[in-house]
Amino acid sequence: MLAVEEALQLVEQHARPLAPQRVALNDAAELVLAEEVTSSVNSPLYDKTLMDGYAVVSSDRAEVREVLEEIGAGSVPRRPVTPGTATRLMTGAPLPEGADAVIAFEQTEPIDDRTVRFLQTDPAPGQHMLAVGAALRIGQRVLEPGIVLRPIEIGILAEIGHAVVSVQPRPNVAVLATGNELVAANEKPSAGQIRNSNGPMLAAAIARAGGAAIELPVARDDRHELRQLISRGLDADVLLLCGGVSAGKFDLVPDALAELGVDQVFHKVALRPGKPLWFGVKKSDQRQVLVFGLPGNPVSSFVCFELFARPAIAALGGRGFMVPPLVAARLSHDFQYKGGRASCLPARLSGTGIRSRRPGEPDGSSSNGDLPRVELLPWHGSADLVALEQANALVRLGTEPQRLSAGTLVEVQCI
Ligand code: AMP
Ligand code: MG
Repeated sequence: MLAVEEALQLVEQHARPLAPQRVALNDAAELVLAEEVTSSVNSPLYDKTLMDGYAVVSSDRAEVREVLEEIGAGSVPRRPVTPGTATRLMTGAPLPEGADAVIAFEQTEPIDDRTVRFLQTDPAPGQHMLAVGAALRIGQRVLEPGIVLRPIEIGILAEIGHAVVSVQPRPNVAVLATGNELVAANEKPSAGQIRNSNGPMLAAAIARAGGAAIELPVARDDRHELRQLISRGLDADVLLLCGGVSAGKFDLVPDALAELGVDQVFHKVALRPGKPLWFGVKKSDQRQVLVFGLPGNPVSSFVCFELFARPAIAALGGRGFMVPPLVAARLSHDFQYKGGRASCLPARLSGTGIRSRRPGEPDGSSSNGDLPRVELLPWHGSADLVALEQANALVRLGTEPQRLSAGTLVEVQCI
Protein backbone atom coordinates (compact mmCIF):
# COMPACT_ATOMS: atom_id res chain seq x y z
CA MET A 1 0.00 0.00 0.00
CA LEU A 2 1.12 3.55 -0.74
CA ALA A 3 2.97 5.34 2.09
CA VAL A 4 1.60 8.69 3.28
CA GLU A 5 4.64 10.57 1.91
CA GLU A 6 4.33 8.92 -1.53
CA ALA A 7 0.61 9.73 -1.65
CA LEU A 8 1.34 13.33 -0.66
CA GLN A 9 3.89 13.65 -3.47
CA LEU A 10 1.32 12.42 -5.99
CA VAL A 11 -1.24 14.95 -4.78
CA GLU A 12 1.38 17.71 -4.86
CA GLN A 13 2.30 16.88 -8.48
CA HIS A 14 -1.27 17.57 -9.56
CA ALA A 15 -2.05 20.56 -7.34
CA ARG A 16 -1.19 23.53 -9.58
CA PRO A 17 -2.19 27.14 -8.94
CA LEU A 18 -5.38 28.21 -10.72
CA ALA A 19 -5.16 30.79 -13.50
CA PRO A 20 -5.14 34.32 -12.05
CA GLN A 21 -8.35 36.34 -12.22
CA ARG A 22 -9.11 40.02 -11.95
CA VAL A 23 -11.46 40.78 -9.08
CA ALA A 24 -12.88 43.85 -7.38
CA LEU A 25 -10.82 44.93 -4.39
CA ASN A 26 -13.66 44.08 -2.01
CA ASP A 27 -13.46 40.44 -3.12
CA ALA A 28 -9.68 40.19 -2.85
CA ALA A 29 -9.12 39.91 0.92
CA GLU A 30 -6.99 36.92 1.97
CA LEU A 31 -6.27 35.94 -1.64
CA VAL A 32 -2.79 35.73 -3.14
CA LEU A 33 -1.74 38.66 -5.32
CA ALA A 34 -0.92 37.59 -8.88
CA GLU A 35 0.60 40.80 -10.25
CA GLU A 36 3.30 43.29 -9.45
CA VAL A 37 1.64 46.53 -8.39
CA THR A 38 3.30 49.85 -9.13
CA SER A 39 1.78 53.09 -8.02
CA SER A 40 0.34 55.53 -10.54
CA VAL A 41 0.06 58.19 -7.85
CA ASN A 42 2.07 59.84 -5.10
CA SER A 43 1.25 59.19 -1.48
CA PRO A 44 0.29 61.55 -0.11
CA LEU A 45 -1.21 63.16 -3.19
CA TYR A 46 -0.25 66.65 -1.95
CA ASP A 47 1.67 68.26 0.93
CA LYS A 48 -0.69 67.80 3.85
CA THR A 49 -0.87 68.67 7.48
CA LEU A 50 -0.77 65.89 10.06
CA MET A 51 -2.19 68.11 12.81
CA ASP A 52 -4.72 70.85 13.37
CA GLY A 53 -2.52 73.97 13.27
CA TYR A 54 -1.13 76.86 11.23
CA ALA A 55 0.72 76.52 7.96
CA VAL A 56 3.74 78.83 8.10
CA VAL A 57 7.02 79.67 6.42
CA SER A 58 9.44 77.77 8.69
CA SER A 59 12.10 80.51 8.59
CA ASP A 60 9.57 83.16 9.73
CA ARG A 61 10.30 84.20 13.35
CA ALA A 62 7.42 86.67 13.79
CA GLU A 63 5.41 86.13 17.00
CA VAL A 64 2.21 87.76 15.76
CA ARG A 65 0.94 86.95 12.27
CA GLU A 66 -2.10 87.61 10.11
CA VAL A 67 -4.46 84.61 9.58
CA LEU A 68 -5.15 84.39 5.81
CA GLU A 69 -7.93 81.76 5.75
CA GLU A 70 -9.21 78.58 7.39
CA ILE A 71 -9.07 75.31 5.45
CA GLY A 72 -10.56 71.93 6.37
CA ALA A 73 -9.67 68.54 4.85
CA GLY A 74 -11.30 68.37 1.41
CA SER A 75 -10.88 72.10 0.68
CA VAL A 76 -8.03 73.88 -1.08
CA PRO A 77 -6.20 76.99 0.19
CA ARG A 78 -6.26 79.92 -2.23
CA ARG A 79 -3.77 82.39 -0.75
CA PRO A 80 0.00 81.80 -0.56
CA VAL A 81 1.60 82.04 2.89
CA THR A 82 4.39 84.61 3.22
CA PRO A 83 6.43 85.75 6.26
CA GLY A 84 4.09 87.47 8.72
CA THR A 85 1.09 85.38 7.66
CA ALA A 86 -0.32 81.91 8.44
CA THR A 87 -3.25 79.73 7.33
CA ARG A 88 -5.41 77.79 9.79
CA LEU A 89 -5.51 74.11 8.72
CA MET A 90 -7.44 71.10 9.96
CA THR A 91 -5.73 67.67 9.89
CA GLY A 92 -5.51 66.35 6.34
CA ALA A 93 -5.85 69.73 4.62
CA PRO A 94 -3.38 70.64 1.84
CA LEU A 95 -0.63 73.14 2.70
CA PRO A 96 -0.89 76.48 0.92
CA GLU A 97 1.79 77.60 -1.50
CA GLY A 98 4.80 79.03 0.33
CA ALA A 99 4.21 77.10 3.57
CA ASP A 100 6.71 74.41 4.58
CA ALA A 101 5.79 73.65 8.21
CA VAL A 102 2.83 73.45 10.56
CA ILE A 103 2.67 74.86 14.08
CA ALA A 104 0.11 73.05 16.24
CA PHE A 105 -2.82 75.03 17.71
CA GLU A 106 -1.51 74.12 21.16
CA GLN A 107 1.57 76.29 20.39
CA THR A 108 -0.51 79.38 19.61
CA GLU A 109 -2.84 81.89 21.28
CA PRO A 110 -5.59 83.60 19.25
CA ILE A 111 -5.56 87.38 19.48
CA ASP A 112 -8.67 87.90 17.35
CA ASP A 113 -10.26 86.26 14.29
CA ARG A 114 -7.57 87.58 11.95
CA THR A 115 -4.48 87.55 14.21
CA VAL A 116 -2.63 84.85 16.11
CA ARG A 117 0.35 84.79 18.48
CA PHE A 118 2.88 81.96 18.10
CA LEU A 119 4.51 80.44 21.19
CA GLN A 120 6.75 78.41 18.89
CA THR A 121 8.60 80.43 16.23
CA ASP A 122 11.40 78.04 15.23
CA PRO A 123 9.73 75.01 13.59
CA ALA A 124 11.95 72.67 11.59
CA PRO A 125 11.09 72.69 7.89
CA GLY A 126 8.55 69.90 7.36
CA GLN A 127 7.25 69.92 10.95
CA HIS A 128 3.83 68.19 11.40
CA MET A 129 3.37 67.76 7.65
CA LEU A 130 3.82 65.01 5.09
CA ALA A 131 5.30 66.13 1.78
CA VAL A 132 3.78 64.95 -1.49
CA GLY A 133 5.17 61.48 -2.39
CA ALA A 134 6.93 61.09 1.00
CA ALA A 135 5.42 57.61 1.51
CA LEU A 136 5.24 56.51 -2.12
CA ARG A 137 6.26 57.99 -5.49
CA ILE A 138 4.62 57.59 -8.89
CA GLY A 139 6.07 54.52 -10.61
CA GLN A 140 7.34 52.97 -7.37
CA ARG A 141 6.74 49.22 -6.79
CA VAL A 142 4.34 48.74 -3.91
CA LEU A 143 3.36 45.06 -3.76
CA GLU A 144 5.00 41.92 -5.09
CA PRO A 145 3.12 38.94 -6.56
CA GLY A 146 2.74 35.97 -4.19
CA ILE A 147 1.84 37.91 -1.07
CA VAL A 148 -1.45 37.31 0.74
CA LEU A 149 -3.67 40.39 0.65
CA ARG A 150 -4.18 41.31 4.30
CA PRO A 151 -6.38 44.23 5.33
CA ILE A 152 -3.29 46.47 5.17
CA GLU A 153 -2.57 45.63 1.52
CA ILE A 154 -6.26 46.07 0.63
CA GLY A 155 -6.08 49.54 2.17
CA ILE A 156 -2.94 50.44 0.22
CA LEU A 157 -4.50 49.24 -3.05
CA ALA A 158 -7.57 51.36 -2.34
CA GLU A 159 -5.38 54.37 -1.55
CA ILE A 160 -3.56 54.18 -4.88
CA GLY A 161 -6.77 53.55 -6.83
CA HIS A 162 -5.96 49.95 -7.79
CA ALA A 163 -9.64 48.98 -7.54
CA VAL A 164 -9.45 45.82 -9.66
CA VAL A 165 -6.66 43.44 -8.79
CA SER A 166 -5.25 40.25 -10.27
CA VAL A 167 -5.32 37.41 -7.74
CA GLN A 168 -5.16 33.65 -7.46
CA PRO A 169 -8.87 32.93 -7.11
CA ARG A 170 -10.27 31.05 -4.16
CA PRO A 171 -10.62 27.42 -5.34
CA ASN A 172 -14.21 26.21 -5.61
CA VAL A 173 -14.49 22.98 -3.67
CA ALA A 174 -17.62 20.84 -4.05
CA VAL A 175 -18.59 18.49 -1.21
CA LEU A 176 -20.60 15.38 -1.97
CA ALA A 177 -21.56 13.12 0.94
CA THR A 178 -22.72 9.67 -0.12
CA GLY A 179 -24.74 7.05 1.71
CA ASN A 180 -28.30 5.72 1.99
CA GLU A 181 -28.15 6.20 5.74
CA LEU A 182 -27.57 9.97 5.71
CA VAL A 183 -30.08 12.66 6.68
CA ALA A 184 -29.42 16.38 7.07
CA ALA A 185 -28.47 17.97 10.41
CA ASN A 186 -31.95 19.48 10.79
CA GLU A 187 -33.68 16.14 10.18
CA LYS A 188 -34.45 13.36 12.63
CA PRO A 189 -32.79 10.07 11.72
CA SER A 190 -35.19 7.13 11.61
CA ALA A 191 -34.08 3.57 12.35
CA GLY A 192 -30.69 2.86 10.80
CA GLN A 193 -30.08 6.44 9.71
CA ILE A 194 -27.49 8.95 10.90
CA ARG A 195 -27.01 12.65 10.35
CA ASN A 196 -24.60 13.83 7.68
CA SER A 197 -21.87 15.31 9.85
CA ASN A 198 -19.12 15.17 7.22
CA GLY A 199 -20.77 17.55 4.77
CA PRO A 200 -20.91 20.54 7.14
CA MET A 201 -17.57 19.57 8.74
CA LEU A 202 -15.81 19.51 5.38
CA ALA A 203 -17.49 22.74 4.25
CA ALA A 204 -16.09 24.40 7.39
CA ALA A 205 -12.67 22.84 6.82
CA ILE A 206 -12.66 24.09 3.21
CA ALA A 207 -13.39 27.65 4.32
CA ARG A 208 -10.55 27.44 6.84
CA ALA A 209 -8.24 26.16 4.09
CA GLY A 210 -9.01 29.16 1.86
CA GLY A 211 -11.49 27.46 -0.48
CA ALA A 212 -15.10 28.28 -1.36
CA ALA A 213 -17.26 25.33 -0.34
CA ILE A 214 -20.21 24.22 -2.46
CA GLU A 215 -22.26 21.58 -0.63
CA LEU A 216 -24.14 19.27 -2.98
CA PRO A 217 -27.20 17.25 -1.92
CA VAL A 218 -26.41 13.86 -0.37
CA ALA A 219 -26.07 11.09 -2.98
CA ARG A 220 -27.80 7.78 -2.32
CA ASP A 221 -25.79 4.62 -2.96
CA ASP A 222 -27.23 4.45 -6.44
CA ARG A 223 -25.14 4.51 -9.62
CA HIS A 224 -27.37 6.88 -11.51
CA GLU A 225 -27.78 9.43 -8.71
CA LEU A 226 -24.11 9.25 -7.83
CA ARG A 227 -23.07 9.91 -11.43
CA GLN A 228 -25.44 12.85 -11.72
CA LEU A 229 -24.17 14.52 -8.57
CA ILE A 230 -20.51 13.77 -9.32
CA SER A 231 -21.00 15.45 -12.73
CA ARG A 232 -22.19 18.56 -10.95
CA GLY A 233 -19.24 18.40 -8.57
CA LEU A 234 -16.81 18.20 -11.52
CA ASP A 235 -17.66 21.82 -12.35
CA ALA A 236 -15.64 22.83 -9.28
CA ASP A 237 -11.84 22.99 -9.04
CA VAL A 238 -11.81 20.28 -6.38
CA LEU A 239 -14.44 17.64 -5.62
CA LEU A 240 -14.47 16.07 -2.18
CA LEU A 241 -16.61 12.97 -1.91
CA CYS A 242 -17.04 11.21 1.35
CA GLY A 243 -18.09 7.64 1.92
CA GLY A 244 -18.45 4.85 -0.60
CA VAL A 245 -14.73 4.35 -1.26
CA SER A 246 -14.10 1.24 0.86
CA ALA A 247 -14.53 -2.34 -0.27
CA GLY A 248 -18.22 -2.77 0.63
CA LYS A 249 -20.98 -3.80 -1.76
CA PHE A 250 -22.40 -0.26 -1.81
CA ASP A 251 -19.06 1.48 -2.26
CA LEU A 252 -19.81 2.69 -5.75
CA VAL A 253 -17.70 5.84 -5.85
CA PRO A 254 -14.50 4.59 -7.59
CA ASP A 255 -16.50 3.02 -10.45
CA ALA A 256 -18.72 6.07 -10.85
CA LEU A 257 -15.65 8.31 -11.03
CA ALA A 258 -14.01 6.08 -13.63
CA GLU A 259 -17.19 6.13 -15.74
CA LEU A 260 -17.10 9.93 -15.69
CA GLY A 261 -13.52 10.09 -16.93
CA VAL A 262 -11.77 10.80 -13.66
CA ASP A 263 -8.37 9.09 -13.75
CA GLN A 264 -7.41 7.35 -10.56
CA VAL A 265 -4.01 8.41 -9.22
CA PHE A 266 -4.13 6.23 -6.13
CA HIS A 267 -6.58 4.28 -3.99
CA LYS A 268 -5.70 3.31 -0.41
CA VAL A 269 -2.94 4.74 1.73
CA ALA A 270 -1.09 3.09 4.61
CA LEU A 271 -2.68 5.45 7.11
CA ARG A 272 -4.80 4.98 10.24
CA PRO A 273 -7.44 6.33 10.14
CA GLY A 274 -7.85 6.98 6.42
CA LYS A 275 -6.85 3.81 4.59
CA PRO A 276 -9.61 3.89 1.89
CA LEU A 277 -8.58 7.37 0.59
CA TRP A 278 -9.04 7.68 -3.19
CA PHE A 279 -7.43 10.40 -5.30
CA GLY A 280 -7.78 11.16 -8.98
CA VAL A 281 -7.81 13.88 -11.61
CA LYS A 282 -10.23 14.77 -14.37
CA LYS A 283 -8.33 16.55 -17.13
CA SER A 284 -9.73 18.42 -20.07
CA ASP A 285 -8.15 20.90 -22.49
CA GLN A 286 -9.03 23.93 -20.47
CA ARG A 287 -8.88 22.78 -16.89
CA GLN A 288 -8.44 19.98 -14.41
CA VAL A 289 -10.40 18.91 -11.35
CA LEU A 290 -8.81 17.22 -8.36
CA VAL A 291 -11.06 14.55 -6.87
CA PHE A 292 -10.66 13.19 -3.36
CA GLY A 293 -12.76 10.22 -2.25
CA LEU A 294 -12.54 10.57 1.52
CA PRO A 295 -13.49 7.67 3.78
CA GLY A 296 -16.96 8.02 5.33
CA ASN A 297 -16.04 7.74 8.97
CA PRO A 298 -15.88 11.29 10.25
CA VAL A 299 -12.45 11.12 11.90
CA SER A 300 -10.98 9.47 8.80
CA SER A 301 -12.60 12.09 6.61
CA PHE A 302 -11.19 14.88 8.77
CA VAL A 303 -7.68 13.41 8.95
CA CYS A 304 -7.53 12.81 5.18
CA PHE A 305 -8.75 16.33 4.56
CA GLU A 306 -6.10 17.84 6.83
CA LEU A 307 -3.27 15.72 5.46
CA PHE A 308 -4.06 15.73 1.72
CA ALA A 309 -6.88 18.05 0.65
CA ARG A 310 -5.87 21.06 2.72
CA PRO A 311 -2.39 21.47 1.18
CA ALA A 312 -3.90 20.91 -2.28
CA ILE A 313 -6.49 23.67 -1.78
CA ALA A 314 -3.72 25.98 -0.58
CA ALA A 315 -1.66 25.16 -3.70
CA LEU A 316 -4.57 25.90 -6.06
CA GLY A 317 -5.00 29.22 -4.29
CA GLY A 318 -1.35 30.10 -4.97
CA ARG A 319 -0.04 29.57 -1.44
CA GLY A 320 2.08 26.55 -2.24
CA PHE A 321 1.49 22.97 -1.16
CA MET A 322 1.40 23.72 2.54
CA VAL A 323 1.98 20.49 4.42
CA PRO A 324 1.02 21.02 8.07
CA PRO A 325 4.12 21.66 10.18
CA LEU A 326 5.02 19.10 12.81
CA VAL A 327 5.83 19.99 16.39
CA ALA A 328 8.14 17.97 18.65
CA ALA A 329 6.52 17.08 21.98
CA ARG A 330 7.09 14.76 24.93
CA LEU A 331 4.56 12.04 25.56
CA SER A 332 3.10 12.53 29.04
CA HIS A 333 2.42 8.81 29.65
CA ASP A 334 3.46 5.30 28.57
CA PHE A 335 1.86 3.97 25.40
CA GLN A 336 1.97 0.65 23.62
CA TYR A 337 1.80 1.43 19.88
CA LYS A 338 0.76 -1.45 17.68
CA GLY A 339 2.23 -0.06 14.43
CA GLY A 340 1.29 -1.48 11.04
CA ARG A 341 0.07 1.66 9.31
CA ALA A 342 1.27 5.23 9.93
CA SER A 343 -1.15 6.70 12.45
CA CYS A 344 -2.71 10.00 13.42
CA LEU A 345 -3.91 9.71 17.00
CA PRO A 346 -6.09 12.37 18.65
CA ALA A 347 -4.14 14.14 21.38
CA ARG A 348 -3.99 17.17 23.62
CA LEU A 349 -0.88 19.33 23.38
CA SER A 350 0.01 21.59 26.30
CA GLY A 351 2.95 23.61 27.58
CA THR A 352 5.36 26.07 26.06
CA GLY A 353 8.19 25.87 23.60
CA ILE A 354 6.07 24.72 20.66
CA ARG A 355 8.37 24.64 17.66
CA SER A 356 7.21 23.73 14.22
CA ARG A 357 9.06 22.04 11.42
CA ARG A 358 8.22 20.27 8.20
CA PRO A 359 8.05 16.47 8.10
CA GLY A 360 11.50 14.94 7.80
CA GLU A 361 13.32 18.09 8.92
CA PRO A 362 15.63 17.42 11.89
CA ASP A 363 14.64 18.83 15.24
CA GLY A 364 17.15 21.68 15.62
CA SER A 365 17.00 21.87 19.40
CA SER A 366 19.78 20.67 21.70
CA SER A 367 17.98 21.22 24.99
CA ASN A 368 14.53 19.69 25.15
CA GLY A 369 13.62 20.96 28.58
CA ASP A 370 11.00 23.37 27.23
CA LEU A 371 9.20 21.02 24.84
CA PRO A 372 5.41 20.87 25.07
CA ARG A 373 3.73 17.81 26.53
CA VAL A 374 1.25 15.70 24.65
CA GLU A 375 -1.35 13.29 25.96
CA LEU A 376 -3.14 10.75 23.77
CA LEU A 377 -6.90 10.93 24.26
CA PRO A 378 -9.20 7.94 24.73
CA TRP A 379 -11.32 7.41 21.63
CA HIS A 380 -13.56 4.81 20.07
CA GLY A 381 -11.98 4.78 16.64
CA SER A 382 -12.68 6.60 13.42
CA ALA A 383 -16.42 6.97 13.93
CA ASP A 384 -15.86 8.86 17.21
CA LEU A 385 -15.79 12.52 16.20
CA VAL A 386 -16.74 13.58 19.73
CA ALA A 387 -13.36 12.40 21.06
CA LEU A 388 -11.70 14.77 18.63
CA GLU A 389 -13.42 17.73 20.25
CA GLN A 390 -10.99 17.58 23.19
CA ALA A 391 -8.06 17.19 20.81
CA ASN A 392 -5.95 20.06 19.53
CA ALA A 393 -3.38 17.86 17.85
CA LEU A 394 -2.71 14.56 16.13
CA VAL A 395 0.26 12.47 17.22
CA ARG A 396 1.94 11.11 14.07
CA LEU A 397 3.44 7.67 14.48
CA GLY A 398 5.12 5.47 11.88
CA THR A 399 4.69 1.84 10.87
CA GLU A 400 6.87 0.17 13.51
CA PRO A 401 5.27 -1.20 16.69
CA GLN A 402 6.80 0.55 19.71
CA ARG A 403 6.60 0.62 23.46
CA LEU A 404 6.64 4.38 24.09
CA SER A 405 7.45 5.44 27.63
CA ALA A 406 6.49 8.73 29.24
CA GLY A 407 8.89 11.46 28.08
CA THR A 408 9.48 9.98 24.61
CA LEU A 409 9.77 12.59 21.86
CA VAL A 410 6.95 12.32 19.29
CA GLU A 411 5.87 14.33 16.26
CA VAL A 412 2.60 16.19 16.55
CA GLN A 413 0.43 18.06 14.06
CA CYS A 414 -1.82 20.82 15.37
CA ILE A 415 -5.46 20.76 14.27
P1 AMP B 1 -18.48 4.31 4.04
O1 AMP B 1 -17.09 4.86 3.78
O2 AMP B 1 -19.49 4.85 3.10
O3 AMP B 1 -18.47 2.85 4.10
O4 AMP B 1 -18.88 4.84 5.46
C1 AMP B 1 -18.14 4.46 6.60
C2 AMP B 1 -18.88 4.90 7.85
O5 AMP B 1 -18.96 6.32 7.86
C3 AMP B 1 -20.29 4.40 7.92
O6 AMP B 1 -20.56 4.07 9.27
C4 AMP B 1 -21.12 5.57 7.49
O7 AMP B 1 -22.40 5.57 8.03
C5 AMP B 1 -20.30 6.73 8.02
N1 AMP B 1 -20.52 7.91 7.19
C6 AMP B 1 -20.45 7.96 5.86
N2 AMP B 1 -20.70 9.19 5.40
C7 AMP B 1 -20.94 9.95 6.48
C8 AMP B 1 -21.27 11.33 6.67
N3 AMP B 1 -21.41 12.15 5.63
N4 AMP B 1 -21.44 11.78 7.93
C9 AMP B 1 -21.29 10.93 8.97
N5 AMP B 1 -20.98 9.64 8.87
C10 AMP B 1 -20.82 9.13 7.64
MG1 MG C 1 -21.42 4.47 2.55
